[in-house]
Amino acid sequence: MRLGVGAALVDGRLLPGDVEIEDGVITALGVAGGRGPMIAAAGFVDLQANGFAGVDFQVADADGYARAGEGLLASGVTAFQPTFITAPEVDLAAALAAMPAGGCGPRIIGAHLEGPFLSPQRLGAHDAAGCRAPDLALLRRLLDAGPVSQMTLAPELHGAFELIDELVGRGVTVSCGHSDATAAEAHLAFDRGARTVTHLFNAMRPSVPRDPGIAMAALARTDVTVQVIVDGHHLAAETVLVAWQAAAGRFALVTDAVGAAGMGDGRYKLGGTEVVAEGGVVRRADGTLAGSALTMVQAVRNLHALGVELEDALAAASSVPARIVGRDDLGRLAVGAPADIVILDDRLEVQRVLVEGGARVAG
Ligand code: ZN
Repeated sequence: MRLGVGAALVDGRLLPGDVEIEDGVITALGVAGGRGPMIAAAGFVDLQANGFAGVDFQVADADGYARAGEGLLASGVTAFQPTFITAPEVDLAAALAAMPAGGCGPRIIGAHLEGPFLSPQRLGAHDAAGCRAPDLALLRRLLDAGPVSQMTLAPELHGAFELIDELVGRGVTVSCGHSDATAAEAHLAFDRGARTVTHLFNAMRPSVPRDPGIAMAALARTDVTVQVIVDGHHLAAETVLVAWQAAAGRFALVTDAVGAAGMGDGRYKLGGTEVVAEGGVVRRADGTLAGSALTMVQAVRNLHALGVELEDALAAASSVPARIVGRDDLGRLAVGAPADIVILDDRLEVQRVLVEGGARVAG
């Protein structure tokens, strides 16, 4: 089957021609005869989605996952990590157990546990009551409760290195975040095996000239990938651009979406706590930012609108995040790769989405 596109994003550049798929796999790229304004790109990979389409993954059942999955697909996402914020062990274990094994439309890579081993100084919207000091036995119980592919932790906490060793040993991506780490503390964690940071600059020690903190340490190191929320609210445009200029190619777009994404303003839940979306900004009752209403395709548009080349913005939503979680098979168009594809028109509207070659959103 040919997709009927004029070009496809392959290895970071737009290759003219159509795309051919068979049995769920890409069989040819740059096929003669492809024309028109549609482009094919690798489906988006969102490493941090707390919810979507009115659903809060932390308390979702199979129907909720199916509903959120439809919304995620419509925004171009073909693989994601349901993200669970700080909560009591019993709630996290229940959330892990409730993840559908076979995905929910998009693939589920595994859970992103964002907590509970976070800095009490940098909790953001997380509930202090569920926050825990590093505890290896607790970590092992959580990892045994369901498939975890990424954990966010504050590496400066006493005992955090033991957790990093355990996570790395079990193939779980370690992301530093909700952290008050100094640059020196951050370097030790990166040397230990943490290779990425969660929502760069947000819920981190603020960077100042002689105390650059974990955010600047991450930007300064070419072996660390940064995850960034580009929704126009979490970071100023200049901050995004400076981060991009420092870290192009190791800059991953994430949404940090809550149920408001794909819906609109109103009241939603994040980790069971009420949050309010107003003017596209999601906050807790005390005014703290609490996730976003962002979608991946909108993040791509936002980054492109700041002057980043479209090819690079698309890679930041696909191959770069896939690489963070060790899934080099996802997030790229290549012969032999799974046909997880988003087809966009020249206004960057999602027209069709395929997961393993099956049409999930038809334009
Ligand atoms: Zn967070």
